[in-house]
Amino acid sequence: MPKIIADAIDQLISIEMRYASGLPRGVIRPIYEAAREAQGGEPLVYLAAQKLREVAGPRDFVLIVTGSGQRFGLPKGETDGPLGAASLGRVLDFGLGARIIYICDEPHIDPIVASVEAVGISVIDEERLETRPHTSVIEIHPMGVAAGPDFAEAMLDKYRPKAVVFIEKTGPNAKGVHHSITGTPKPPEDTGHCFHLADRAAARGIFTLGFGDGGNEVGNGIILDAVRRIQPRGADCGCPCGDGIATVTKTEVFVSASISNWGAYGVAAQLAYELKKPGLFQDEEMEEFMLRQCVGAGGTDGATAAQILAVDGTSARTQTGLVTLLRQIIENGLTEVDRGF
Ligand SMILES: [Zn+2]
Repeated sequence: MPKIIADAIDQLISIEMRYASGLPRGVIRPIYEAAREAQGGEPLVYLAAQKLREVAGPRDFVLIVTGSGQRFGLPKGETDGPLGAASLGRVLDFGLGARIIYICDEPHIDPIVASVEAVGISVIDEERLETRPHTSVIEIHPMGVAAGPDFAEAMLDKYRPKAVVFIEKTGPNAKGVHHSITGTPKPPEDTGHCFHLADRAAARGIFTLGFGDGGNEVGNGIILDAVRRIQPRGADCGCPCGDGIATVTKTEVFVSASISNWGAYGVAAQLAYELKKPGLFQDEEMEEFMLRQCVGAGGTDGATAAQILAVDGTSARTQTGLVTLLRQIIENGLTEVDRGF
């Protein structure tokens, strides 16, 4: 049954609904299929949920890295990322008893704090993290290439995490360049290079989990060739580096979705189902609150670069509609019906 539920969730979170222009169309499903095939053919949210349940227990630390933006177009970051980080963190905290440490670049902190607090996790200081349940602290990732390795080792030494999760975080191509999905290179000093955290965690045998929707996010490295083939800018970014947007950075499990948040929602819903507590996954009222808080704190729609109630060009109504469908899948999966004949 868990795989039947997971397969339904996988289908729902990989439906494409992009605008007619601006971002590439017709690529979500082929990249999803490549990710599933590369990981043995099981539903992706199933793989992620199994590993998280296996490694993360009460009071264990899980690092969640999120926040994606540009200094001019998306100054405080996108709405895609923080909401998924909040949803998954909620189930890991309230469901498994794990403690979540969020990691982001300094400009993106406000929408992430607002989203996380909207699901019932308070963001405070390290002292109270030790004594108060449902509490998180934020670690700021330093900008620039040179700071990445030391920061990664410091985080792994400090928290000894059981899992490190990346949601909508760009990774470098083979030439070390980060790009937007349309091929625009990111100035290296304008971003935290968290791919080191993925690589260093893996080297220590720590479970790594990635969520992406474009082929340029940490985790997509496990399907590098497919992204280079499927994404219009996969192998040819059009920038001077000439190597394309496809990232080489891998995670142990990678969930490809229509919108990165939705991948995280899918794993959160699957965990809530497997724990037989559907209420761990946000309902429509909480979803609406999360999005309002995120946008109110500066979160910006990545598709239009407008500070509106939208995620990657999909409306608030669509986010709550998705939550309705996910809740129905897991609630019905836990309901026995006596049909009376
Ligand atoms: Zn390039």
